[in-house]
Amino acid sequence: MTTRVAPTAPELLVTGGRVVTMNRDRDVYLDGAVAIAGGDIVEVGASDRLRARWPAVPEHDATGCVVTPGLVNTHQHLTGDPLLRSCIPDLLPPGRSIFSWSVPLHAVHTAEHDELAATVGALESLRNGVTTVIEAGSVAHPLAAAAGMEAAGVRGSVGVWGWDTPDLPYSYPAQQSLERQQEVLAALPPGGRICGWVTLVGHGLASDDLLVGAAELTRRSGARMTMHMSPTRADPDTYLERFGVRPLVHLERLGVLGEQLLIGHGVWLDDDEVDAMVRSDTAVAYCPWAYLRLGQGVTGNGRHVELARRGVRVGLGCDSVNAGDRMDILLAASLAAGLERDVRIDPTCFGAHDAFEWATIGGAAAAGLGERTGSLEAGKAADLAIFDADSFEWAPDVDPVMALVWGTDGRSVRDVFVNGDLVIAERRSTRLDEAELRERARAGAHDVLRRAGIEVPVRWPTVDAPEPTRPGR
Ligand SMILES: [Zn+2]
Repeated sequence: MTTRVAPTAPELLVTGGRVVTMNRDRDVYLDGAVAIAGGDIVEVGASDRLRARWPAVPEHDATGCVVTPGLVNTHQHLTGDPLLRSCIPDLLPPGRSIFSWSVPLHAVHTAEHDELAATVGALESLRNGVTTVIEAGSVAHPLAAAAGMEAAGVRGSVGVWGWDTPDLPYSYPAQQSLERQQEVLAALPPGGRICGWVTLVGHGLASDDLLVGAAELTRRSGARMTMHMSPTRADPDTYLERFGVRPLVHLERLGVLGEQLLIGHGVWLDDDEVDAMVRSDTAVAYCPWAYLRLGQGVTGNGRHVELARRGVRVGLGCDSVNAGDRMDILLAASLAAGLERDVRIDPTCFGAHDAFEWATIGGAAAAGLGERTGSLEAGKAADLAIFDADSFEWAPDVDPVMALVWGTDGRSVRDVFVNGDLVIAERRSTRLDEAELRERARAGAHDVLRRAGIEVPVRWPTVDAPEPTRPGR
């Protein structure tokens, strides 16, 4: 193992923890240190050696902790429903949940609601060790979402949803839709800690003109692009009816697929579509919790491990709050591994270490950020998650990656650094007044529901209310 020589003295040494580097050799230092300067990692090595080299540099003590790269969430809705957790009823058919709930709730969100929702979502992500969040698209106020992410201190991307299907709210003709995309890229250029992405809703809601224009804009501006595709069989059905071929075959023919594109979901792919993903080097964001929660058929149809084995970049995601629920990539990692083992009826086919790669370096590569984050190596951003291993769920704590994926989840996260800034310390934001934020989030949720004219039903009778409700079972 060789380490690069740091050009300058670090400002901080994170010392004393077990450091899971996720470097090429997957080195784990038993008593390791990470040296940070100017937001970047300048060296990773044994604590003793780095201390001896830079004796006067302040230390952040991670004794008794496991230090990993900040986790990467490659598909997360930060607006629309983070204020309305567990509010959309469970037993609705897919069309009803979208058109009776998601659409009207989105439609009444002001810029303030979007900023608040993104702040809450970014904070939850950080508290679970997620330092990079690829936002899956906002309806109307992407810059407000970016402001929320900035306030919490996370790394990531935002986009404004583009679609040009007439008669839907916020639908614009292709050219106008592309101009809206361009505005986001201009405000948040590629390469920034929070940058704009070309973001289409996807599914069957874009014309060929919009798809081709979006891919061209992405390549021309050096940005990246994301859109939803085939979480259910509805997208293949739509494309087969319209074009006689399945979605990814159609997109490949249009020249839309490629290294710059991150597809959300890709659950219902046939052999030709898998081949198209491999050929085009298109990446995919896999959100297993959402498919189970929404009953979308991942157990019978998901091929994400096969895609990864064939060289496709796969990242993990938590989707939207009323689908993927908790913004906790370790939960997604354990579920991804468990699903694959169960579907194959083979516990040797995919394990904790494979899933942890997706949660870190794999997710970063899927998002086009593999040079910047996803592992602890000199020259990369100092994005670190520090897990407190002093608890029963970690004992006896032999292989930290086994403990991270199978034994614990985001609740073990104690401190988080993003770009060298300590944004979570002792499980609390260093930037936000969490009590005040909780109050605002609660008030914001009621405001959104009032504006949308929606009352959230409760399924079982509330017996301690003055007038007991008697909803149906
Ligand atoms: Zn989504």
